[in-house]
Amino acid sequence: MGAASHVGAVRALNEDSCLAGTHLAIVADGMGGHARGDVASRLTIEAFQVLADRSDLTPADVRRALAAANTALLDDTREHPERDGMGTTLTGIALVDHFGSPHWLVFNVGDSRVYRLSDTGLQLLTHDHSEVQELVDAGRLTDAQARVHPLRNIVTRSLGSDPAPEPDVWIFPPNPGDTFLLCSDGLTNELDDAGILALWRDRTTASAESAAGRLVTAAVDAGGRDNVTVVVVRLAGEHTDDGALATTGPRSRFLEENR
Ligand code: CA
Repeated sequence: MGAASHVGAVRALNEDSCLAGTHLAIVADGMGGHARGDVASRLTIEAFQVLADRSDLTPADVRRALAAANTALLDDTREHPERDGMGTTLTGIALVDHFGSPHWLVFNVGDSRVYRLSDTGLQLLTHDHSEVQELVDAGRLTDAQARVHPLRNIVTRSLGSDPAPEPDVWIFPPNPGDTFLLCSDGLTNELDDAGILALWRDRTTASAESAAGRLVTAAVDAGGRDNVTVVVVRLAGEHTDDGALATTGPRSRFLEENR
C-alpha cells in the first residue's frame, strides 16, 4: 500500500486524512470548513489506527471501528460546540477473514471512492452517497453533467451523524495482482477516468507509493481546487487476464502461495 495527500493549489487547509496499514487502507475527506473537517477526518483515522498493524481482520472489526469513529465525532462536537456540523466521508478496503478464507472488504460512506485498476480499465466499486448521484440514478443527470452540477459537493451520508450512517459494504475474493485506488473527490474532480488510467498505464511497475504520489501531483497540476488524497493497494503476484487458475485448490492456499 502507498499513500499520498496534498492540500491542493487553492485551499489553506488539508481536511483529508488517510491510512495505509498492513491489511487496511482508508481515505476520509473531512467537511465543515471552520467547523473543522480536518478534525473529523483525523478522528476517523484514529479510530481505525488500532486495526492498522493487524493481519487477522474481520468484517466485524471494521464495523466496530466505523461505529467508534462516528461516536468519536459526536463526542468531540459535544465538547466543542463550535465544531457542530463537522463530518467526514470514509471509504476503505481491508483484507479480512470471511468464513475462514481471505476476502476483500470494501466499505463506503459518502463520496470518496474505491476503484479497481487493471490494464483494461478503471472500475468504480463504490457508489457515491451524494445529491448528484441520486439525480444520476434517477436518470435526471448524466455523469458528465454531475461533474459540474452546483450540488456536486452535497453528500447524503457522512460520519458525524446521529443516527450513525449505514455503510455500503462489498465483499469478494482476492486475486494475485489485484490493484485498487482509493481517493477523495479532489482527484476525480480534476482527472477523469481516462486521465487516471493513462497515468496508471504509464507506471504499472512503479511502487504503490510512487503511483499514489504521481496521481496526486497530476490532480494538483490540473487545478488542485480541492485537497487530493490517493491510496494505492496492490496484492503481490501476477495478474492473469482471464483469472483462470492452472490447478484447482482451496482459495486460502492459493492466496498463501501467491503472497
Ligand atoms: Ca473533498
